[in-house]
Amino acid sequence: MFALAIHGGAGTIARASLSPADEQLYRAALEAALSTGYELLLDGAAALDAVEAAVRSLEDCPLFNAGRGAVFTHDGHHEMDAALMSGHNKLAGAVAGVRQVQNPIRAARLVMEHTEHVLLSYPGADELAREHGLPLQPVEYFFTQKRFDQLQDAIASGKMQLDHAADPNWKKGTVGAVARDQHGHLAAATSTGGMTNKRYSRIGDTPLIGAGTWADARCAISCTGNGEYFIRAVAAYDIACLMEYKGLSLEEAARIVVQDKLAPVGGEGGLIAVDAAGNITLPFNSEGMYRASRVEGGAAQVAIYKE
Ligand code: ASP
Repeated sequence: MFALAIHGGAGTIARASLSPADEQLYRAALEAALSTGYELLLDGAAALDAVEAAVRSLEDCPLFNAGRGAVFTHDGHHEMDAALMSGHNKLAGAVAGVRQVQNPIRAARLVMEHTEHVLLSYPGADELAREHGLPLQPVEYFFTQKRFDQLQDAIASGKMQLDHAADPNWKKGTVGAVARDQHGHLAAATSTGGMTNKRYSRIGDTPLIGAGTWADARCAISCTGNGEYFIRAVAAYDIACLMEYKGLSLEEAARIVVQDKLAPVGGEGGLIAVDAAGNITLPFNSEGMYRASRVEGGAAQVAIYKE
């Protein structure tokens, strides 16, 4: 059974803070990304291709904090992180701090397939994308007035903010996808602008294999939330470990990491996960998480709030 799940970030997403019209926009964007990946899986494509395509769709949508809609660093730039991992052969690629690549997830795949490395950062990562002819964009492409206003608020409050903080204008977030394909292979992909008002050169959990992104033969995981906590918890890999060493189910392992390990120390956020049987779980400890999933032959499920 093939299966796909995607997320558009977790945080303080309360029903009251989202107008019905805005909610429709988010749902439509999630549905579009989900269907892009689902159709590929239906055609027999690899899980890696499906997660990359779903994430690209979300990166091109200004509603989410990745690619086009990436948030601002403290000094007014965009520094985007992305990673993907293929489970059956444990290959991975990631970029950190790219400023010009339209689709950071494509750059991450270039690192995986065209270099001997796993993680490239800053100008070297943009340079690799340029060498391979990936579309680059001028800074204006990544400018959105809302993001800029968020930055001014965050600077005034002196804090680094999750994209979807309490202020109604601060919703949206990191994006990600996990999939199991028809061959039983798993893959995960995550892409983000990071956190509003982050110090320049700050790198979050997203491009760190095992922290924000992980896939092996048992599970594929993509996280969203307060990156520093996810890094210290090695959150994504911990789920794989709980499954491997303790024999836990995907759902139980993911619940333990999100609710018992991250939540008590202030690690706000959530994750999407799929296992080798195509089971999906989407736990979060924040008020909401933009999410959608679909298993082979089933209907698309799209949700935002706690239900
Ligand atoms: N995890 C991301 C980071 O810390 C942020 C997010 O998921 O919203 O960079």
